[in-house]
Amino acid sequence: MKIGVIGGGQLGRMLALAGTPLGMKFVFLDPAQDACAAALGEHIRADYHDHEHLRQLADQVDLVTFEFESVPADTVAFLSQFVPVFPSAESLRIARDRLLEKNLFRSLDIPVAPYAAIDSQADLEQAAASIGLPAVLKTRTLGYDGKGQKVLRSSADVSRAFAELGSVPCILEDFVEFSGEVSLIAVRGRDGASKCYPLVHNTHNEGVLRVSIASDQHPLQALAEQYTSAVLEHLDYVGVLAFEFFEVDGGLKANEIAPRVHNSGHWTIEGAECSQFENHLRAITGLSLGSTAKLGESAMINFIGSVPGINKLAAVADCHVHDYNKAFKDGRKVGHATVRSVDADTMRRQLGKVKALIAADN
Ligand code: AMP
Repeated sequence: MKIGVIGGGQLGRMLALAGTPLGMKFVFLDPAQDACAAALGEHIRADYHDHEHLRQLADQVDLVTFEFESVPADTVAFLSQFVPVFPSAESLRIARDRLLEKNLFRSLDIPVAPYAAIDSQADLEQAAASIGLPAVLKTRTLGYDGKGQKVLRSSADVSRAFAELGSVPCILEDFVEFSGEVSLIAVRGRDGASKCYPLVHNTHNEGVLRVSIASDQHPLQALAEQYTSAVLEHLDYVGVLAFEFFEVDGGLKANEIAPRVHNSGHWTIEGAECSQFENHLRAITGLSLGSTAKLGESAMINFIGSVPGINKLAAVADCHVHDYNKAFKDGRKVGHATVRSVDADTMRRQLGKVKALIAADN
């Protein structure tokens, strides 16, 4: 089975690492010369709009998936004429647009913070008056890792923010005073069977995920599964989907969905029976899904900008290192470590050692 992947970053790389033992081969389409997944498969270096090279990809693979949701809609539409694409073009269309996904949540009775569509400065002023401040202005598409969004706290912010984000279509959301952030990684197969991993507690800094801790029998697990299942069924979804929530007053408010393997699911490589990467590949190729059961207690920590010395990391017991082989750059995710231990106390102690190595490296 040969899989085409749109995008050749670390998510593509980890898909290939999971699929290779299953006999799968990978072709990545990515314009970047230094796409880090290229080491694990063929690399078609081309723009996402380049129909000649998209056709070349479609002709040599059994199906196509993608590793980021900002894939242009016409890229997926074009590929879909020649080869199956999972998740579907419709799932991608909704998940890449913050307004469409919020509308979907509301139509499925999944709680969301008050929000409004913003297409002009006048819209923003009206919405800021009705929603109130603080609020968060986000571009509808192409935002990631805290990019394409601004927290508005004053009328001066309201007067500047729309232009600062490029005067593109946006949504304004109420600022949620959450007690925590959690995500649910779910997978649904081509036959409609689905499974969920344990809820993960996430800590962000400046909009970028820093640490994910897999929970043990989280009290909101069933509720998160109920909301996620409504989305999966509605979209007739195939593949891994990540659903990010805010914890508020003992309940959940939906933040966003990602139609792909997700950073907050990296811990499943060592911390679950079958990883999110293998389960995504199982789902899209029509195989039975693997067990999502947790093995021990796990936490994942991102390496942002640089990876601390491998010799020091390797000396920390229970620490599994992933260096994406990307050029080091401020603010860039260049690797992660998962600490998996037999009990939560040991895991937190070992995680503390990795945190200390990161602090010493900066
Ligand atoms: P997002 O790209 O929407 O996931 O936003 C990145 C991070 O910004 C989230 O994980 C939150 O920590 C924060 N954030 C986003 N939206 C809101 C909101 N409406 N209220 C408070 N914090 C938010």
